[in-house]
Amino acid sequence: MASVALLWFGEHMSAVPLRNNKAAFSAVRSVTVLGATGSIGDSTMDLLRAAPGLYRVEALTGNSNVRGLASLAREFDARFVAIADPSRLVELKEALAGTRTECGAGESAIIEAAARPADWVMAAVSGAAGLKPALAAVDRGATVALANKECLVCAGDFFMQRAQKAGACILPADSEHNALFQALGSGNREELVRVIITASGGPFRTWDPADIEQATLAQALKHPNWSMGQKITIDSASMMNKGLEVIEAAYLFSLTPDQIDVLVHPQSIVHGMVEFSDQSVVAQLGAPDMRIPIAHCLGWPDRISKGPAARLDLAKIGQLTFEEPDFERFPALRLAYESLRTGRGATTVFNAANEVAVAAFIAGQIKFGAIARLVEATLEAWIRSGNLAPLESADDAIAVDHKARNKAASLLPQIALKAS
Ligand code: NDP
Ligand code: MG
Repeated sequence: MASVALLWFGEHMSAVPLRNNKAAFSAVRSVTVLGATGSIGDSTMDLLRAAPGLYRVEALTGNSNVRGLASLAREFDARFVAIADPSRLVELKEALAGTRTECGAGESAIIEAAARPADWVMAAVSGAAGLKPALAAVDRGATVALANKECLVCAGDFFMQRAQKAGACILPADSEHNALFQALGSGNREELVRVIITASGGPFRTWDPADIEQATLAQALKHPNWSMGQKITIDSASMMNKGLEVIEAAYLFSLTPDQIDVLVHPQSIVHGMVEFSDQSVVAQLGAPDMRIPIAHCLGWPDRISKGPAARLDLAKIGQLTFEEPDFERFPALRLAYESLRTGRGATTVFNAANEVAVAAFIAGQIKFGAIARLVEATLEAWIRSGNLAPLESADDAIAVDHKARNKAASLLPQIALKAS
């Protein structure tokens, strides 16, 4: 299995590999997709579908979508499928009757899926629930395409250290981080000045604060460029997603908060840039289609011959524009930097409070503008309570995550009542 690269990162050893760090993959690469029934799962399965004979599916997982999971298992002849909701096991077994696919249910079955011997694992469960399964893949030294940013935000340092220790390769699948991963290869660690991740600005980019405060769920779900799952689409509208991505970049590439900048780029064509000491800026461009960064991870360290996404036509797009982010109208981004600077579990609290806030917004319990207020109030309460401490294990991270969720839930009624 792949070893950890030392060259680019020098003494800042990382589990994010170099291109020349060849992984020992099987001739037919075996693949597991955690979160196969979601948006990233769908893009991944589409890439597998477009390359018959090159990949074999070891395991697929979902949360409650039995029909979608069973249909994928049949199509790809998966060896194992796991559904997180234990009450759906009988239904899943019935849906797969007559096939050779084994079935499991519950969190332990999702972890089992991740632990099975696949060469390549897509980690695309949504939310902090993705942490334990991703760690199960990391611990056996797998090559893991990491879409689930929450598990890095929740357990960052510890996650990367564990990957490094196990000799796992972490391939960044999030489009901005995949862009940085591709651009970073143009120089050495010592020559890096900063990285820039772009943000579309979401559906409320030009809105007044009063309108953002009152935005409805339907409005928040209308992303101008990307088609994604519900939670990340809402996070994009609040710019919480960019905040999570700043933290994700810090942990993935061992960067300080000052080395990470955000630029709003409404066309979502340039995904990430790296500035080097000679003032060269190296960027990665592509259509806003997650199949492109996922294809890069799937083919890595080579490139797949032809992906199913549309080719980039810059003449047709005409203009690429960039703006500074607005930290006032989108406080989520400010809170992300603050929690990253605070460290010691603050990013775990940031993520947990946001998950609670987004669920409350979807349930109609709070206004859109209250999402960031709940996150801020939870962070403040956490810091005041003196609970900050380094996270040394997955259990530490999960304990902080649970406590922060409880704290956020307890603050919810007063945040819901408070006008902006
Ligand atoms: P979706 O909501 O579309 O899919 C989530 C997947 O995880 C589904 O398969 C879902 O199952 C499963 N799932 C949800 N909860 C659990 C649980 N508790 N235990 C086990 N499985 C669960 O999300 P996305 O595909 O949009 O996003 C997945 C991850 O990738 C997120 O972390 C997101 O931030 C990240 N990401 C997504 C991008 C995108 O374009 N969508 C871009 C970059 C990163 P079921 O279908 O049965 O509910
Ligand atoms: Mg992204």
